[in-house]
Amino acid sequence: MNKRVKNLWRLIGKHVDGILISSPENVRYLCGFSGTEGTLLLTRQEGFFLTDGRYTAQAKQQVRDFTPITFKEKWSELGRRIKKLHIKSLGFEARHLTVAFLKELEKQTASIEFKPLAEELDSFRSVKNATEIQLLKKAAAIAADSLAEVLGMIKPGVRELEVAAELEYHMRTKGGSDIAFQTIVASGWRSALPHGVASQKKIKKGDLVTIDYGVVYQGYNSDETCTFVVGKPTAKQKKIYTVVKKAHDLAITFLRAGKSLKDADAKARCHIVKMGYGKYFNHGTGHGVGLNVHETPIVSFRSKETAQKGMVVTIEPGIYLPKWGGVRIEDTVVVTQKGCELITQYDKNLQVIGM
Ligand code: ZN
Ligand code: ZN
Repeated sequence: MNKRVKNLWRLIGKHVDGILISSPENVRYLCGFSGTEGTLLLTRQEGFFLTDGRYTAQAKQQVRDFTPITFKEKWSELGRRIKKLHIKSLGFEARHLTVAFLKELEKQTASIEFKPLAEELDSFRSVKNATEIQLLKKAAAIAADSLAEVLGMIKPGVRELEVAAELEYHMRTKGGSDIAFQTIVASGWRSALPHGVASQKKIKKGDLVTIDYGVVYQGYNSDETCTFVVGKPTAKQKKIYTVVKKAHDLAITFLRAGKSLKDADAKARCHIVKMGYGKYFNHGTGHGVGLNVHETPIVSFRSKETAQKGMVVTIEPGIYLPKWGGVRIEDTVVVTQKGCELITQYDKNLQVIGM
């Protein structure tokens, strides 16, 4: 049985005698399959990978450590296997499996107890190994190269969506398989919207432009935010930028293995509060990044986790002043014993563009 499956059983404990893994990210993590139709059925001794006819060839190529099975009818095949394996209580991914899926499965397996697994799985993928960190760095490098290509086109009169489209084009042609999330290009007053996905708005001279963007490389996501000024920055723009940058730097300097993630959030947050902008920083400081662009652990005042070597998280404080605009600066970092190392590489000093 592979190390990751063993780790999964260690996290879940003895409450179940079978586990159904249905989320594409966990399926990929455990067996290497990258398609969209794949389910793993695991007992402590063995495991099966089930897919449909569209993926038989791909499964043969990709799936490690499990025998791929092509089903004709998913529910009956799963039901048959569950019975054959004498599973009495089956754990499932509560945050992924739909009610409809569960109902179908219940029809096939009358006497089985289904146990939702949620918090038990939270820390499952949060510590990354060297290969995963390499893939995350490669994704970040593709993204940063792509951003460098499009900066020259950001000028007054250009629409946010044009910038996003160009950026996405480069991210895909430079090796990315997809974008990690809807690209955010938020300019002027729209930069005060923390999730202002690119719109038809034309960029104007003097606008702050926040670009939050990411790419997927071999399943792994990048996540980075840069905020620029189109033309000469005003004193207020410079001031807000400096406060956010300092908050970002304080959290990054603080973070290392053994430190609480709640305290890392406090490092950034307290600085923004001290400078008088506390109520304009209305989200957590960061989140885990991996096969999902948002995954555990979170870096917020609600965090309970301690940073561990190999955890990959974002640090992304922001200040958003309604109608005026906003600044967010985001880097993805990997926690080490002595501190943390940047995965995203784009320079975060205030950069003037569009001149
Ligand atoms: Zn982001
Ligand atoms: Zn983020």
